[in-house]
Amino acid sequence: MKIAVFDEYRIGIVDGSDLIDVTEACPSYSNTWPPVFMLPFIEEFTNIRPKIEDLIRRRSRMVALRDVRLRPPVPMPTKILAAPVNYQRHQKEMTAKGAVYEGMVLHTVAQYGVFLKPSSSLVGSDSVIELPFSDRRTDHEAELAVVIGRRGRNIRREEAYDYVFGYTGLMDITVRGHEDRTYRKGFDGFTPMGPYVVTKDEMSDPQHIGLELTVDGEVRQVGNTEDLIFDIPRLIEAASFQTTLYPGDIISTGTPEGVGPIRAGNTVRLTVEGIGELVVRVSQGHPDSRRGLDI
Ligand code: MN
Repeated sequence: MKIAVFDEYRIGIVDGSDLIDVTEACPSYSNTWPPVFMLPFIEEFTNIRPKIEDLIRRRSRMVALRDVRLRPPVPMPTKILAAPVNYQRHQKEMTAKGAVYEGMVLHTVAQYGVFLKPSSSLVGSDSVIELPFSDRRTDHEAELAVVIGRRGRNIRREEAYDYVFGYTGLMDITVRGHEDRTYRKGFDGFTPMGPYVVTKDEMSDPQHIGLELTVDGEVRQVGNTEDLIFDIPRLIEAASFQTTLYPGDIISTGTPEGVGPIRAGNTVRLTVEGIGELVVRVSQGHPDSRRGLDI
């Protein structure tokens, strides 16, 4: 199933160009803040699936996909974990292009572990994102994200897929520079996610998922999860060694080569095989580029 969150935080299943509203199948649903209803929806998914399938058959509440505003398909996970450098060719390009400051070592998960992005940085497809600085390089990073389905700690790589609920597209937008990753990657709008979560039964081979990112139609990044340094099971093992994973948690797997700057006016489009197209437009944010950072 392709699961979307839309409009005033309703839950829908994508059916061609339509969206079937299945919100009533969600246990303890509420559209008041905080929008955490997808967590019990995911945790209880196996139990509520017959009810969801019944709602799909009845098609009693349906809207055209093009008429809705898409939200992040998990609007408020307990955490978004992300892999630092996790494709070899990206590791090479970051050194070659001087995109990192002198002396910086590009560690992978083995040395660096995983890092956090705040859920407040999430936006859905067709959002406008703001560049916080007018004078610093801000990059797109195209990524496949894993959505966790079950609570788990110290998960072994051999059983890791049992803990996966599904997959989605994610852009890990990043200001280049010296600050911690969590700061540079944590601005509002810096984690576009979606357009949908696709349940794992519909993704036949997560080790071979292709992704492509374009900026104003120009291809910038082409990648495939077969080139991951830490594959999905190893990422789940590494992440769950540090922290308990909960239903709805997001693990973003890292970006292939081809990262580059985005500028106000750009349209950035991430296509993930089997998932769909995540699109954002870029605008310039606050003109005071040092706000809050002055000594
Ligand atoms: Mn990244």
